Amino acid sequence: MPKYIILIVSFLIMFFLVKNKLFPTEKKGEKAKEAINATEMSKDPVCGTYVEEGSKYRLKYYGKIYYFCSHDCMIKFKEAKSVEI
Ligand SMILES: [Zn+2]
Repeated sequence: MPKYIILIVSFLIMFFLVKNKLFPTEKKGEKAKEAINATEMSKDPVCGTYVEEGSKYRLKYYGKIYYFCSHDCMIKFKEAKSVEI
């Protein structure tokens, strides 16, 4: 009988070790934070819409990168600030 108990206990230990390796709760939180950073929103200075910072409509102006919701907004900004694309 004691052999049986040892088996069960070692199985439980193994189970928790594997569970922690597969689902590390701390790392999950870090990954979620990374995901939020990856899709950080930036305000379109022309129309005020929030745009993902991965937007292809962007302009660098005085060292700051501006993101736009559309090509039209980018053109409007460019005309207003008279910057080159
Ligand atoms: Zn816009």
